[in-house]
Amino acid sequence: MALVVQKFGGTSVGDADRIKAVADHIARTRRRGDQVVAVVSAMGKSTDDLIRLATEVSSTHPGRELDMLLTAGERISMSLLCMALADLDVPAVSFTGSQAGIITDTDHTRAKIVEIRPERLFEALQAGKVPVVAGFQGMSLDRDVTTLGRGGSDTTAVALAASLNADYCEIYTDVSGVYTADPRVVPTAHKIAKISFEEMLEIAASGGRVLALRSVEFARNFNVPIHVRSSFTWEPGTWVKQEDETMEQGVVSAISHDITEVKLTITGVPDRPGIAARVFREIAERGINVDMIVQNTSKEGATDISFTVPKDDMGPSLEVTQIVASEVGALNSYADPGIGRVSLIGAGMKTHPGITATMFETLAKEGINIEMISTSAIRISCVVRQTDVEKAVKALHEAFDL
Ligand code: ASP
Ligand code: MG
Repeated sequence: MALVVQKFGGTSVGDADRIKAVADHIARTRRRGDQVVAVVSAMGKSTDDLIRLATEVSSTHPGRELDMLLTAGERISMSLLCMALADLDVPAVSFTGSQAGIITDTDHTRAKIVEIRPERLFEALQAGKVPVVAGFQGMSLDRDVTTLGRGGSDTTAVALAASLNADYCEIYTDVSGVYTADPRVVPTAHKIAKISFEEMLEIAASGGRVLALRSVEFARNFNVPIHVRSSFTWEPGTWVKQEDETMEQGVVSAISHDITEVKLTITGVPDRPGIAARVFREIAERGINVDMIVQNTSKEGATDISFTVPKDDMGPSLEVTQIVASEVGALNSYADPGIGRVSLIGAGMKTHPGITATMFETLAKEGINIEMISTSAIRISCVVRQTDVEKAVKALHEAFDL
C-alpha cells in the first residue's frame, strides 16, 4: 500500500464534469489499495478572474487582502471535490492551507513554507478518509492567510508529500508530461519518460511551465519522486526523480524557451568596485529575482551592465537602475522587452565537449544573433530577439536529434 499525494491543476478541476472525473480517479486509486491525499488548484481561470476583479475595485491591493481573496478559489475546488467523493461513498474531508498545518513566512503573495504540521492530515488518513487540501496557500507566522505565488499548488503538493513521507507525488495537468520542447513550437517534440531533479530544475527555471520551480526544489531537497501526467487521458507521464542508470542517456534532454523576461541595461557605468553590488542589492531588496547578467569589458573606465528580470518586475527594476545610474554617474539606463531566451538542458553536457559550439553554430546558421549567454553545468542559455525564439528552438531540436 502506497501513500500518494495527487495534485489536480486548474484545468483538471475546471468544471463539474472534470471534478467528477477527478473524484472517480481518486476512488480508483483507493480501490487499488493506496492511500490518497489530494491537493487542488482553483477551478479553471478563477485565480485570474479574482485578480481582475481586484483591479476593477481598486488600484491598491494590500498583500494581505489579495491573499485572502485569492485563497477563496482553492476553497471552492476543495469542497466541491469532497462532495463529488461523497457521492462515490469515498469519505473525504477538506482542509485550507492553514488547517493542513502549512506555516509560511509573512511575505504576502509570494510566501515561502517554513514548516508543515500535518497532524490533522494523518488523523484523517488514519480514519480512512481522503484529505483534500487547498493548494497555493498557508498561514503566516503572524497568523494571516498567505499565498505561495502563482502556480503554488505544485509546491503545496510536493511539500506535503515530503512532510507526510509519501511514496511519490502525482501532478495532474492538461499536458501528458514533460516534452523535449514545447510541442506547440516543435510538433515532433516527444514526451520524456524519466528526467532527473537537476534537469527538471533547469527546465522549470528557463521557461518550462509544466512544474513550478519551487516544487522541484522541494522534490530534490527531500527526494520526492514526481509523476507529471494528464488528467484528461490518465496515461503514464514523466517521472522526475533522482538520477539513475536507467535514465535516457542523451547528451541533451530538452530545449526550453522563455519570453517572459525583459533586459535592463545601464550604460557608461564607472568601472570601479562596489557598483554592481549596489545595483543588485537594491534589486534584491525589492524581492526581485535577477536571472542572467553580463558586464562588458570596460572602455575608458566605463562599462555596460545588462541583466534580465521577469516582465512583471520591469517597473521597480527600471526605477532602481535609474536611481543607481544617476547616483554613480552612469550614462543612462533602459529596458528592452523584445528579448527571449533559448536554453539547452542535459545532464550529459558535463562530460561531452562541443555542445556549446554546436549550439552557437546552429543559431549562426539561422542568422540569429546572440545577445547574452549564461551556463550552468547542465544548461546553456542564450538571449536572442524574441522574434527569433521559435526558429531557434526548432533548429536546436533538430540539430541535437531530439
Ligand atoms: N490557483 C493558483 C494560480 O492560478 C495556484 C495554482 O494553480 O497552482 O496560480
Ligand atoms: Mg495552475
